[in-house]
Amino acid sequence: TSPQLKHLNIEYTDGSIDKKWKDAEFPWNQKLEFYNKEVFGNHSFRRNQREVINATMSGCDVFVLMPTGGGKSLTYQIPALISTGVTLVISPLVSLIEDQIMHLLQANIPATFLSASIEWCEQQEILRDLNSKTCKYKLLSDVLIRQLEMMNTHRSLARIVIDEAHCVSQWGHDFRPDYQGLGILKQKFPSIPVLALTATATASVREDIVQALGLKDCIVFRQSFNRPNLWYTVIPKTNKCLDDIDKFINENHFDECGIIYCLSRMDCEKVAEKLQACGHKVSFYHGSMDHRQRTFVQKQWSKNEINIICATVAFGMGINKPNVRFVIHHSLPKSIEGYHQECGRAGRDGQQSSCLLYYTYSDYIRVKNMLSRPNEQDSCSFVYMQVTPSRTGKVLEANLENVLRMVDYCENNADCRRHLQLVHLGEKFDPKNCLGTCDNCSKSWTWIEKDVTNLAKQLVDLVKTTGQRHSSSYILELYKGSLSHVVKKYGHDGLILHGVGKHLAKGVASRVLHHLVVQDFVVESVKRSDTYGSISSILKVNQSRVDSLLSGKETIMLRFPISDKDDFENGRYESAPAKAPYVPNFRSNSDKNKTLDIKTNVLQTK
Ligand code: ADP
Ligand code: MG
Ligand code: ZN
Repeated sequence: TSPQLKHLNIEYTDGSIDKKWKDAEFPWNQKLEFYNKEVFGNHSFRRNQREVINATMSGCDVFVLMPTGGGKSLTYQIPALISTGVTLVISPLVSLIEDQIMHLLQANIPATFLSASIEWCEQQEILRDLNSKTCKYKLLSDVLIRQLEMMNTHRSLARIVIDEAHCVSQWGHDFRPDYQGLGILKQKFPSIPVLALTATATASVREDIVQALGLKDCIVFRQSFNRPNLWYTVIPKTNKCLDDIDKFINENHFDECGIIYCLSRMDCEKVAEKLQACGHKVSFYHGSMDHRQRTFVQKQWSKNEINIICATVAFGMGINKPNVRFVIHHSLPKSIEGYHQECGRAGRDGQQSSCLLYYTYSDYIRVKNMLSRPNEQDSCSFVYMQVTPSRTGKVLEANLENVLRMVDYCENNADCRRHLQLVHLGEKFDPKNCLGTCDNCSKSWTWIEKDVTNLAKQLVDLVKTTGQRHSSSYILELYKGSLSHVVKKYGHDGLILHGVGKHLAKGVASRVLHHLVVQDFVVESVKRSDTYGSISSILKVNQSRVDSLLSGKETIMLRFPISDKDDFENGRYESAPAKAPYVPNFRSNSDKNKTLDIKTNVLQTK
């Protein structure tokens, strides 16, 4: 990896931010305080806001990772006001832009935007006005590039902001083809500072964004993505799932606000209908509804006329309702980072909120089928720049890998959910700090520590003997003895280690491999194909770490639940005790009187 990427790997967050950006010594400091208080009506800055503003005002390229609701907008709105010239903001959804413009105009800040939905002559007018106003744009067209070039020669282009920057990466959960062309901005205007912001990105996606946007030596601000007031649970999905949901809401969140994420348009309508029949104030929201219908539902929801929205992922980006008490996934999310972000819409006010995921393997097959027919997927984005068809195959591959990790997450019945999510987002989290706020940590099962060093060695060996150029899901496939056409194509069905993990219970091998990655025995890196610029994720062996494993200096222990009739001596690891599924009752928990301190991210007793 290139030198500017070294701080993008897994690490504890908040430790390494450069102190100098905290200083109040910058020349714009007084203005900064003034605008924050007088124009935006805030008492103080939130974590990293001042630092980001100082860095971008100093002319650096800046990359900001801040949880949803953390206050990213302010970090470019204030610089836009302090700097001379226009700040260009690129944002993926018209609804997001409209929302922001509304707020800015309310605060008497001149702002406007361009989008494919605006009449051509109106666009021309906006372009003419450009030099005198602060503008917001939706799209990137040739006309706009030329306009920007003109502005640049007049030195009136102050800064380029790329909001929801994870949309740049085809490896991410929310790739938008029209974002992929944004790399041209840095090429055309190398001296204009770029500010890229996102609330969700794995290490690979971060690497991808930095490369795709051409950010050189950018300063990275990140903070912990842990949301201590959210409770995470995975529940086996049966055919009485909707009754379970009704019961759960009545017992835990009666008359409170929630979002139920569904896979398809049909599902949304079906779930909404059922819950309505149960007496809940509910509506649905998906990409096949027209703009007016969607705005109507959103308004009903903000005015509390309805409590519950059954929605596809089309609903959510920029939704800013603080008192969402539960987020339920009626089916499998498409990626861990997408799941994390969707859950993140609950409990913005710091109050305890529930995140339930109903999982069945057959939903994986449904998601897989949807991915291979991308046109049927829900999307609100206006595709302005066409993506080259040759890339579609790779995008599909990356998406499949993402879903497979989600399956692993659901099938893991032992490790802390927070730990699993955060590690995926490149952050270390000690499960001890979960304090029983996820299903796995709160189980009253008896556990046994089991030495899995041998399995680990086999997996490492597989990574090595297959040339260190395959993804983790492929390695697991081999280990379990898959005879897929890809396996045959590479002749990997002839390997000695092919299928040695066949006897293991579901989820065991993937837990061991996951552990190897977290503990740095195996490193996950991004491979970029030169021909198409497409990327894939591959595993490589970290030899110095592995040596200590081979020499017996280190052993690997994992904990497993013990069931009554379990027989560990046979070398079999049982996946789960035959007990009733864990259904949380959050109300009965003593932690319900706790609230989250937004500043310190720590739970406090009321
Ligand atoms: P993000 O884009 O990171 O999801 P937003 O920029 O939409 O978050 O901000 C979320 C909310 O937090 C907004 O209502 C905003 O007014 C508020 N906010 C942002 N910064 C501050 C601050 N320093 N003090 C108080 N409220 C703030
Ligand atoms: Mg935002
Ligand atoms: Zn936990």
